[in-house]
Amino acid sequence: MSYSNPYNHPLPSYLQADHLGPWGIYLQQVDRVIPYLGHLARWAETLKRPKRALIVDVPIQLDNGTVAHFEGYRVQHNTSRGPGKGGVRFHQDVTLSEVMALSAWMSIKNAAVNVPYGGAKGGIRVDPKTLSRGELERMTRRYTSEIGIIIGPTKDIPAPDVNTNEQVMAWMMDTYSMNEGATSTGVVTGKPIDLGGSLGRREATGRGVFTVGVEAANHIGMDVSTARIAVQGFGNVGGIAGKLFAQAGARVVAVQDHGGTIYQEAGLDVPALLAHVAVAGTVAGFAKAEVISNDAFWDVDCDILIPAALEQQITAANAGRIKARLVIEGANGPTTPEADDILQERNILVLPDVIANAGGVTVSYFEWVQDFSSFFWSEDEINARLVRIMKEAFAGVWHLAQEHKVSLRTATFIMACKRILHARELRGLYP
Ligand code: GLU
Repeated sequence: MSYSNPYNHPLPSYLQADHLGPWGIYLQQVDRVIPYLGHLARWAETLKRPKRALIVDVPIQLDNGTVAHFEGYRVQHNTSRGPGKGGVRFHQDVTLSEVMALSAWMSIKNAAVNVPYGGAKGGIRVDPKTLSRGELERMTRRYTSEIGIIIGPTKDIPAPDVNTNEQVMAWMMDTYSMNEGATSTGVVTGKPIDLGGSLGRREATGRGVFTVGVEAANHIGMDVSTARIAVQGFGNVGGIAGKLFAQAGARVVAVQDHGGTIYQEAGLDVPALLAHVAVAGTVAGFAKAEVISNDAFWDVDCDILIPAALEQQITAANAGRIKARLVIEGANGPTTPEADDILQERNILVLPDVIANAGGVTVSYFEWVQDFSSFFWSEDEINARLVRIMKEAFAGVWHLAQEHKVSLRTATFIMACKRILHARELRGLYP
């Protein structure tokens, strides 16, 4: 049965599934689950269009007195299950269609772990390393003010993502609050603890990666305490996940980031590496490791590969070379659909982003709830709730994958799309 509707006005070509970018990849992922949606497939077109997308001009005065203009975005992909929710990234390659894809993956992720949110994402096309602290603050504040017309604690709640952190969230919270004339802590999550942030939020994404990663390893009979791990990206996600795996006895043998790739067969000294990254901003230059080429990273002998950087890293060009038996997607969208198929054929288990890295937004949800009630929980309580939610989501996805004989990604999409479209159906169309 086909649900294509000739009256649906087609989107422009650069937003179609065959366009090789994150949004095209997302559309292909949705197409794969439509046959499993039953009567809800009637609503599937909803998933293929963002509800709302805003492009803003962000002009600021630079320290040298000149004026610079940056392009900023906020996309609310879906709000059927609740307000929009998702991070803000500052990166020189950010585009509208990338932010659209990231917002859509947030809809799927939030539904997969069953937190009461839709999906949203934002970004500014900028290399923040080129800005002074003052310039970064002015850019963040002007961007927040510009997107202020669509965000809010019950509308759309930003959070950290690539190259944004607690300080950026503090400026966003303050700017929104100044414009509203009242302090509104619940407008962003990932804030500093002293401004209504949550204990455990900073480590939550990495902790979630570790928690469901261990579950997945157990299900394929892999012992994490003896596993060799390769990690791409050693920031808030890859760095924390690497630390937790190393604490569990695993050997982190290779790490790649924007500065280069390092290798140590006996296992890198992860605490020392984290201390190095905190100062140098990259793993490059770490003394107690060998340097290997960026391309050789894909050939590293390992049991678990954790891509925790950017999109489209595992492609048809390198998927055939990967030695790991388990890929845990800390990043959003690191694997292309072609590479997904290659990995599946090679019997390499992929734990998809929309479940693997959902720990961040799960604790963001806890933060938001705490802000509303102005009552704050202990770190143990937060971590225990996080682990419970992640394990439950993993168990549900694993079961669905067995039942339909599909990949964990398709199973997660089936579970999430059904939840979103069921909400859509219950709410109905307005008017
Ligand atoms: N940026 C993170 C993600 O991609 C966290 C989003 C949030 O906490 O809202 O999941």
